[in-house]
Amino acid sequence: MTTARPATKPLKSLDDALTELLGHAVALTGTERVSSFDADGRVLAQDLVSGLQVPPQDNSSMDGYAVRCADLADPAKALPVSQRIPAGASGRALAAMTVARIFTGAPIPPGADAVVMQEDCEVQADGSVRINVAPKPGQWIRRAGEDVLRGAVVLSKGERLTPASLGLAASIGMNKLAVARRPRVALFSTGDELVMPGDVPPEQMKPGAIYNSNRFFLKALLTRLGCEVTDRGIVPDRLDATLAALQAAAQSHDLILTSGGVSVGEEDHIKPAVQSLGSLDLWQIAIKPGKPFAYGRVANAHFIGLPGNPVSSFVTFLLLVRPFLLRLQGVADVAPKSIAVDAHFTWARADKRREFLRVKRNATGGLDLFANQSSGVLTSAVWGDGLVDNPSGCSIAPGDRVRFISFSELLA
Ligand code: AMP
Ligand code: MG
Repeated sequence: MTTARPATKPLKSLDDALTELLGHAVALTGTERVSSFDADGRVLAQDLVSGLQVPPQDNSSMDGYAVRCADLADPAKALPVSQRIPAGASGRALAAMTVARIFTGAPIPPGADAVVMQEDCEVQADGSVRINVAPKPGQWIRRAGEDVLRGAVVLSKGERLTPASLGLAASIGMNKLAVARRPRVALFSTGDELVMPGDVPPEQMKPGAIYNSNRFFLKALLTRLGCEVTDRGIVPDRLDATLAALQAAAQSHDLILTSGGVSVGEEDHIKPAVQSLGSLDLWQIAIKPGKPFAYGRVANAHFIGLPGNPVSSFVTFLLLVRPFLLRLQGVADVAPKSIAVDAHFTWARADKRREFLRVKRNATGGLDLFANQSSGVLTSAVWGDGLVDNPSGCSIAPGDRVRFISFSELLA
C-alpha cells in the first residue's frame, strides 16, 4: 500500500522572496546625529545641501606662475614677479606685464588667466621669469564650483555613506550627519550539537559536536551593516527554551535573526515557537545553497530564520537579509548588482534551482570555481571573492559569460 505524500508547496523564486521580504521592511523611524568620523556605512537621513561652492574660488592646480596670456606675445621676454601667493593666501590683481608666483590650491589673482607650471619656466638672475611654453587660456586653473555648486544636493537621503562621501560632506563644511538609527538585532544560533569555540578544546569535542561558526560571521555581517547586535548565544533544541528566548528578544529588538532549526524535522523548534508567539511564513526558496528560509513576526519584531548549514546561512544573509536591513535604514536600491564575466571552469551539473557558486577572479579576468560547492564547506566562501548567479537548468562551459556578484559588493 502506498501512502499519499503530503502536498509540498512549490519553491518560491528568489526574486519573489526578496520582493515579499522587502514588502515587510518598513523603514525604521528615528534618526540620530553622529560625527562624520563615526558615520562610515550609515545611511543618510536627510539630503545634504551645499551652502557654498567647491572650490570656493578659481585656484591653481600646479606650482608655477599665474600669468596673463596676452602679456606673453614675445616668448624671449622675461617678466618680473609682482607677488607670491601660497595656498591659504589671497593675491591682489595681477599687474600688467608681471607674473605671480603661485602654488597648488592658491586662488588665481584677478586678471590672471592661466598658470604655467614651474617646470616650463626659467628664473633669470634678476629674479624675473621667462615662460618657455606658451600657455592656453585657462590652463591649470581649477574653476570655482567645478566640484559642487552652491545649493546642490551633494548626498541624498537614503544614501549609504562611504569614505569618499564622508570626505565630500566635509568639503561643504559638515562634520555631523543625520543618519537612520541602527537596527537593533537579536542573534541566536540553534542546535544542541553546537559548541562555542573557546569553551571546549578541539581534542575534547564529543562525537557529533561541532563548533558554532555561523554566530561569528553573522555577527560580523550585521555589524558591517550598521546594526546594534545583541548576541543571545546558542538556544537549545527545546520548545520551551526557544519560546523564552524569542519572547525576551522581541521586546527590545527590530529583528530577531536565527540560524538553524528552520527545516521541518522534529528537532526544529523555531517554526512552532514563532507560530505560537506571532506568525511565520516558511519559505522553500529555489536557490542552492539556501533552500530553507523563514520570515515572520514575534510581537513587534521582525523574525528571520536562516538555514543552519554555514554556506546556506552566509549566502541567504547576503542575498536576502542584507537588502532587508538596508531597507530598514531607508536605502532604496538594495538588490545586489552582478556583472558579466567569463567562466574559466566547467559546471556540468545543471540544477533545477538557481545556484550561487563560490568563485574567484583570476589574473586573466576570468572566474575560477572552488572545487567543493557543498553548503557545509565554509572554506569556499573564504577562498572565493564572489558568487556566480547561475540560472536554474544551466550548465557552464569555459568561456561562457556568467553573472558575477562580487563580495566587495555584498560585504560592504
Ligand atoms: P539545521 O538547519 O538546524 O538542520 O542545521 C543544518 C546543518 O547546519 C547541520 O549540519 C548543523 O549542524 C549545521 N549548523 C547549524 N547551525 C550551525 C552553526 N551555528 N554553526 C555551524 N554549523 C551549524
Ligand atoms: Mg538544527
